[in-house]
Amino acid sequence: MAVFSYVCHACNRCCRNKAIRVSPYDILRLARYLCISTTQFIENHTEAGGTVLRPKDNGDCGFLGERGCSVHPDRPLVCRIYPLARWVSPDGGESFGHLTPHPKTEGVYGISGTIQDYLDHQQLAPFFEMSERYGELYQKMIDMLEKLDPEELDRRSDLRAAIDELPAGTLASMWVDIDATNGVSFSSSDGSGVGIDEAVARHIRAVEAWLDSLDAASRN
Ligand code: SF4
Repeated sequence: MAVFSYVCHACNRCCRNKAIRVSPYDILRLARYLCISTTQFIENHTEAGGTVLRPKDNGDCGFLGERGCSVHPDRPLVCRIYPLARWVSPDGGESFGHLTPHPKTEGVYGISGTIQDYLDHQQLAPFFEMSERYGELYQKMIDMLEKLDPEELDRRSDLRAAIDELPAGTLASMWVDIDATNGVSFSSSDGSGVGIDEAVARHIRAVEAWLDSLDAASRN
């Protein structure tokens, strides 16, 4: 794998004036880290239908504190992989590129390791696994929506733009809020309740059951 290394010197410039996109899995991990439900997390910490972390008024990420990232152990995928970007082709092929660094970044790029070393160090494997699982589910949802309404494809970019405009804290769909979809009332006082892996498994089953019911209804 290609040589690559990057050493973060915590200048925090990459945590400012960015739209930090989050997946349902990112939200679940962040919510559990903060001992709140995904519903509360979406209300308090997101915008764009629960798909982007809500920044502070000055443009800093809402989780950027005086000592850096306040959610570092469960920071989202995009923060872990920075300054790399990853693409997965329809046949599963994986490729990587460099994002343009902040002009005043104190991060140091080098050639003392490989991309795989960097991914391992950032503990990205479970995030990639979840991207694949949710990617498959997302494709099933798209296929079903197009089956029910062939004009869905034409409306998709309009829908995406409308979601980006949703008021902060508003939920876009059952897709985003894992605890609500699972019917779990999360309480920090009785422990974390359903663990992360079980919560994801239940969420995927619930969305698949919903898709199956739509499919059955469309045939009646
Ligand atoms: S979640 Fe943490 S690492 Fe990611 S942008 Fe916010 S402060 Fe930075």
